[in-house]
Amino acid sequence: MQLISRAWLKLAVSLGCLAALTAISADVGSAAKAGAAADAKRIAIVIDDLGNNMAGTEEIMASPVRLTVAVMPFLPTTKRDAEWAHRVGHDVIVHLPMEPLRGRRSWLGPGAIMTDLADDEIRRRVEAAIDEVPFAVGVNNHMGSKATADERVMRIVLQVCKKRGLFFLDSKTNYRSVVSRVGSELEVPVLQNQIFLDDVASTAHISRQFELIRKQATEQQTCIAIGHVGIPGKKTAAVLHQAAPAMPSDILFVRLSEMVPKTNIP
Ligand SMILES: [Zn+2]
Repeated sequence: MQLISRAWLKLAVSLGCLAALTAISADVGSAAKAGAAADAKRIAIVIDDLGNNMAGTEEIMASPVRLTVAVMPFLPTTKRDAEWAHRVGHDVIVHLPMEPLRGRRSWLGPGAIMTDLADDEIRRRVEAAIDEVPFAVGVNNHMGSKATADERVMRIVLQVCKKRGLFFLDSKTNYRSVVSRVGSELEVPVLQNQIFLDDVASTAHISRQFELIRKQATEQQTCIAIGHVGIPGKKTAAVLHQAAPAMPSDILFVRLSEMVPKTNIP
């Protein structure tokens, strides 16, 4: 850790996430169906890449609506951000660095789940990451377009989630992800990201994505979306502060744990 400068690591994490934002249009409906039984329309917004004192962290914590924050393990403000989010009423999940198909190793941050690791080492890293993030109720992937398509890797990750009583949010950085299928088999609750809020870091784009979230929630009853602290952080937080209170009253903002299917089977 000491070898990596803090500024570089911040940039690297942000670049990593932006690089991982590939098309996720396929399979958009399946997570929505999972929550369709509830009466109210529900939106869960997840903010990734906490744990490194990134731009927008304070504004996200002060969100006017309940959020879920995904905190990276083993970073300078991992514990502070997890405790802070819990204190102000947001859900906390572990933002687990996982191997991408493309992109630099340095974008992943420490403790990453690589597909060439032995079973025991993957298990040990997932357990250690969960231990690092207080109050975690779930796990999602940072990058991970390669690892989430690897059945051996995901079986181990999801077995640990099951043992620890955590759900898994598939960020859907790869449409070939096996998370949903393996999670169903192991009876681990799996949720899926449907919209990236800030894959382009401009206020105009983030506002358009927010409108897409409203439309998705109206038509499908639920919507799960992912935004970020870091490069787009302050803009994402500003749109959230402005647009969330203006949502129609029949749309509720909920924490991700409130979206977990009651049956435990996705
Ligand atoms: Zn990330």
